[in-house]
Amino acid sequence: MEGVTDVVGEWVTFLSRYCRRQLAEIEREFPFRRSLYIDYQVLQASGKSGLRLADEVIDRPGKAIGDIRDALRQLTAIGEDRVGAINVRVHAIDRITAIRDIRSFHIGRFVSVSGIIRKTTEVRPRIIEAVFACPGCGTTVTLRQGYGQFEEPENCPNPECNRRKLKLLPVKSRFVDSQKIRIQESPEGLRGGERPQTLDVEATDDLTGMIAPGDRVVLNGILRSKQRVTYGTKSTLFDIYLDLSSAESPEREFEEVNISEEDEAAILALSRDPDLYERITGSIAPSIYGNLEVKEAIAMQLFGGVAKDLPDGSRLRGDIHMLLVGDPGIAKSQMLRYVVQLSPRGVYTSGKSSTSAGLTATAVKDDFGDGSWTLEAGALVIADMGIAAVDEMDKMAKDDRSALHEAMEQQTVSVAKAGITATLRSRCALLGAANPKLGRFDAFVPIAEQINMPPSLLSRFDLIFVMTDTPNQGRDTAIAEHIIKAHRVGELIMRSSAGPLSDEHTRLLAAESVAVEPPIAPDMLRKYVAYAKRNVTPLITDDAREMLIAYYLRLRTLADENKPVPVTARQLEALIRLGEASARIRLSETVERTDAERVIRIVDTCLRQVAYD
Ligand code: ADP
Ligand code: MG
Repeated sequence: MEGVTDVVGEWVTFLSRYCRRQLAEIEREFPFRRSLYIDYQVLQASGKSGLRLADEVIDRPGKAIGDIRDALRQLTAIGEDRVGAINVRVHAIDRITAIRDIRSFHIGRFVSVSGIIRKTTEVRPRIIEAVFACPGCGTTVTLRQGYGQFEEPENCPNPECNRRKLKLLPVKSRFVDSQKIRIQESPEGLRGGERPQTLDVEATDDLTGMIAPGDRVVLNGILRSKQRVTYGTKSTLFDIYLDLSSAESPEREFEEVNISEEDEAAILALSRDPDLYERITGSIAPSIYGNLEVKEAIAMQLFGGVAKDLPDGSRLRGDIHMLLVGDPGIAKSQMLRYVVQLSPRGVYTSGKSSTSAGLTATAVKDDFGDGSWTLEAGALVIADMGIAAVDEMDKMAKDDRSALHEAMEQQTVSVAKAGITATLRSRCALLGAANPKLGRFDAFVPIAEQINMPPSLLSRFDLIFVMTDTPNQGRDTAIAEHIIKAHRVGELIMRSSAGPLSDEHTRLLAAESVAVEPPIAPDMLRKYVAYAKRNVTPLITDDAREMLIAYYLRLRTLADENKPVPVTARQLEALIRLGEASARIRLSETVERTDAERVIRIVDTCLRQVAYD
């Protein structure tokens, strides 16, 4: 007993020392302010007792919150009637638990997870204290309600009455605003195509309606369990959810690639390499032979142009959208998967994927919301600030197609359906792959007519590559040699992990791997890209400007009305973005003649097929 009062006393000391201003605000503005935020870092740093209290918050948060309430009762400034209504929230926890590492050990403990919001439901009242009355004798019963199943009294507690059914009195009961949320691991934390895991979260009271799908957040709360019930039978299995205590924006280091001083030195050295462009292009999908222009363009997409906010309040995207249309079996999908792994934030999805959210976002009534509307983020929202690789784009749903216009140009996704209106952000670069209309290109029909997408959508791509697969002895041999090399290298690497290789195999591995190994290791390239995006915002020189304008004007006169891609001012913007990306690759603050030349060469190979002859 002694110990308990001690702890409450310690909380009184802490609160009156570090939370005085908040308490005064709650006192003054209640019920509009009714949440007390305890800064975990401050608590931990507030001496020996603070350290102990901090541990208690993590290990026994239920008890800690009870103690804090007792302490609030002693701090006479806040009336007893209010103490029960104050939310005790803890934030600024320094240890993040990975969602996939959550185990039964964590039940009842305070945990912090970081990730991206996948779904949210509407905000709805949830009953927390249900008052029942007996229609016979008027006896009332109050039951506190947890999350999930509604609990009802068996029968009237009055021994003289014994009526079976009591009636709920909603007016006398207490409700709280409640919202269900699903958070998923961030794509950058995943390696090699792992499926992201999710955790369900319940937000209550003033935390509801604050979080939208696509938001990157750190969520702190108490992990709770709920017994599974199937067809009225209780199971021994439990589901878990996070009872949300606070939500914050993630720190930089959780968000982005960490770059040490040594990394920076290596990055600067690499930027001065005379073969920089070849090495970077060669590091993109090295196991795929050829396709050098596509790879060069993908390199530019990784770096991206500069997003600009104009004085009139409008915004120009810096992200470069790219489409690969081609015959089956020419490594389009492989290329997409590779890019997703290279990008600090990549998401791979298929246009015909089965998820209800599709590419943009949807509002549906599904069982997640138990009958209320749920807003779910699709791939382009999840890929915010990264690259969304969308395979089989020609097979996407109609709804997605129209939403894609906004997502690609404004980089937002608007949803207005039933009770839900929301605008989500989708600031990502899109790398799409599609097959031609009839599955493969028909040599007797103009290629342009075989691209199965409307001009309005096509014009939003900065680059469109047409990839045909026509037999060609020389090229076919080279591809065959290359594929076999890749297989041999893979085989030898597998063997070498089992035991030492023979001298002959060691020599073979060294000789063959040159062709299929990236000149720049993926980890290094990822850092290089992150560094360039973070630190370099190139400006166009007069020289480059004149070249780009002259090329654009020539395009306008060449443009063929019968081609699927209209030549509009969008192409000029694409040239600028690509020029910026080209300059960024060598960490240059200026877009120069060489950049303009490179960009015009690439854009011209694309447009020659889809916009003019
Ligand atoms: P797509 O998506 O274009 O239909 P895939 O990406 O599924 O084709 O590729 C089919 C297979 O052919 C893959 O295993 C890929 O590695 C191989 N392949 C196709 N073209 C090449 C190439 N140029 N170099 C190496 N492998 C290739
Ligand atoms: Mg494919």
